Amino acid sequence: MRQVLSVTSECIPLVKTGGLADVAGALPGAMRDVGWEMKTLLPGYPEVMAKIKAGKTVLSDKNLFGGAAKVVEASGSGLKLFVLVAPHLYERDGLPYGDASGKDWPDNPERFAALCKMAARIGSEGAGDWLPDIVHCHDWQAGLTPLYLSQSSGHRPGTIMTIHNIAFHGFAPKEKIGLLGLPRDGFTQDGYEYWDQISALKAGLVWSDKLTTVSPTYAKELMRAEFGMGLDGLLQSRSNDLVGILNGIDDKTWDPATDPEIANYKTPRGKRTAKTRLRREFGLPVSDGPLCVVVSRLSHQKGLDLLLEALPALVDRGGQLALLGSGDKELERRFAEAAASHKFVSARIGYDEALSHRMIAGADAILVPSRFEPCGLTQLYGLRYGTVPVVAYTGGLVDTVIPVSPMTLRGKVATGIQFHPATSDALARALMQAVDLFADKPVWEMLQKNGMRQTVGWQASAAEYASLYEKVAPAL
Ligand code: ADP
Repeated sequence: MRQVLSVTSECIPLVKTGGLADVAGALPGAMRDVGWEMKTLLPGYPEVMAKIKAGKTVLSDKNLFGGAAKVVEASGSGLKLFVLVAPHLYERDGLPYGDASGKDWPDNPERFAALCKMAARIGSEGAGDWLPDIVHCHDWQAGLTPLYLSQSSGHRPGTIMTIHNIAFHGFAPKEKIGLLGLPRDGFTQDGYEYWDQISALKAGLVWSDKLTTVSPTYAKELMRAEFGMGLDGLLQSRSNDLVGILNGIDDKTWDPATDPEIANYKTPRGKRTAKTRLRREFGLPVSDGPLCVVVSRLSHQKGLDLLLEALPALVDRGGQLALLGSGDKELERRFAEAAASHKFVSARIGYDEALSHRMIAGADAILVPSRFEPCGLTQLYGLRYGTVPVVAYTGGLVDTVIPVSPMTLRGKVATGIQFHPATSDALARALMQAVDLFADKPVWEMLQKNGMRQTVGWQASAAEYASLYEKVAPAL
């Protein structure tokens, strides 16, 4: 089997803040099925160290940005891991990227440059007797890896950079060029410089052999000024190397037939029971309208401020909302306030994996009103569980939901509702449409069944990654 090193700052079931962790955790299993063994390099945050049994040390460094560090092998949950143990960088209370209040760690440039340095060493020197054919880097945290690799004279694996979300660049002040060991002549507009700062993501996009992002539509959007966050020109110039490969979901964890959070409800009766329980759990009264859920980070990207404005369109017609999310404090406060003032709205502020399963299982519809969405996962969970997605027309939401229209209804292929542009008025109209369609039972059932038939696993995408790896792997 050919070998690939995946470099990531999060990975389920060890540490997760968003969809990147789901993808990093699911890819190794999917790639094994298509002939690629994937090992994952991850920082040794406290929650990672608590969950792994550290094995052999494969690399060490006496002074990696101010302290001793080593890479150890570990395995578990079907993953083969390399964990970067560097207590001076990772052993601290709080979150992977910041303190408990969410404020970024000031030494994030060093923390993730350390990850990239060790990734580049594994790529060029190997770890023990293991040498990768490909190094696959995820987001800015892994972005400096291809640049460090280009500076080494050893083995040269093929490099892939995947953009999960271009909104995060991984900026560092230019004064850190020397400290981070970056080549000074690379600090140019064609290199890793971005408005007089270091951009780790840009380094990854310039120095990798191939670039991917997580849906075909997002790949096209990224080449436009509205979405490219200043990197659209660079991505246009590399358009021949950029491909959008849709994320799948872990269809074993998200399987309505075996989900431990709910009784098997693949039948309409099962869905009714899950819904009754969900209403009870959220303290919502019985109503004839659709029960809608949101499971999301609360951030500007996710467009949930639009939902707050559009809520009357739903609740005044008997629809209900149950929300689970955390993040932006102002949004948390506004949703708590909406819940307190309307009996058809209920909100849980927090992060709760098990509850997210019960919500997606029990709801009639799942709302994803994002302003931009590289791929999005919750609409895919919804499709699998017969929970109709109501989504914005952007990124991966375009590629995964077939919107209701006279034509798609006639052809019996629709799976959800889409709105455009990303405004509260357009969302309000979509919510009214959801209420109307929900009242039309045969149509609603058709949407549910079409969605449940859609393939949302990793198979097709794993094959696409494999063919990309083949293109850039060194010859055998
Ligand atoms: P992003 O990565 O931008 O946050 P995605 O839709 O790609 O968005 O992935 C988000 C993942 O995090 C999904 O698996 C979703 O179920 C999960 N998630 C988000 N917020 C919560 C929450 N409050 N509780 C449980 N799971 C959550």
